[in-house]
Amino acid sequence: LLLGIGSVALLGAGIGGLFLSNRALAPARLAWTNQQRFIADASHELRTPLTLMHADADVLLRGRKHFDADDVELLQDIVSEVNHMARISDNLLTLARLDTNATHREHEVIDLPQLAQAGARRVQTLAEQREISVKVEATGDPHIIGDPMLLEQAVLILLDNAIKYNRSGGQVILSVSEQGKRAILQIRDTGIGIAAEHLPHLGERFYRVDKARSRQIGGTGLGLSIARRIILDHNGEFTLTSVPQQSTTVTLTFPM
Ligand code: ADP
Repeated sequence: LLLGIGSVALLGAGIGGLFLSNRALAPARLAWTNQQRFIADASHELRTPLTLMHADADVLLRGRKHFDADDVELLQDIVSEVNHMARISDNLLTLARLDTNATHREHEVIDLPQLAQAGARRVQTLAEQREISVKVEATGDPHIIGDPMLLEQAVLILLDNAIKYNRSGGQVILSVSEQGKRAILQIRDTGIGIAAEHLPHLGERFYRVDKARSRQIGGTGLGLSIARRIILDHNGEFTLTSVPQQSTTVTLTFPM
């Protein structure tokens, strides 16, 4: 029995030692990677049940003649909440993949004015629905090296915000220019703006100035984090300035 206890103690010490030496190697990085991998796996696993719930609620809604108006409203609420969860889960997955470098990155030559034009075209319908005009202005023809899909995703997030947080009849201006060896892409809107006290928090995940408004228009509070992360991954700079009740300007600066 004594020998047994001794062996167990020895084994315990062995595991403890192994554990410590592992931690001593790269503790923070390992913990961070594991955490991000866990978030990515969890978001990915949530995708299937959410898709199934959406499909089930859709089937029930199609047979809506069997339900009264209150039941239909409840079902529509369920669909909208499921959609919201799916967006959060997709955004978390994107962020976790970016954080662990699990996203494959292309290195292509990107024509910045073309990227801006493509982004403007893709948000055209959304902008028209809200009576907002989107204009592209380009001086010069700056090119950068980057991943076209990721950069397009970042530009779309910023355009989406510029439209969502705008006022009816407002404007969004995408301007592309060159400054020495730097290429600049700026997204300006004539929207509700952001009060100075919120600016330092905008990089925080899930931070929203007006939670109710963001939620109502389908926001997740993760868009800016994703866009900023993509720009920093391209050795770019991301700055956001705002005049409350007037305008918000996001400036992206890249090495050419
Ligand atoms: P959301 O999904 O809520 O839009 P984001 O991370 O994209 O999340 O943005 C965070 C918050 O920053 C938003 O909830 C909104 O309050 C504010 N915001 C972002 N872009 C703009 C903008 N162009 N004008 C005004 N407020 C903005």
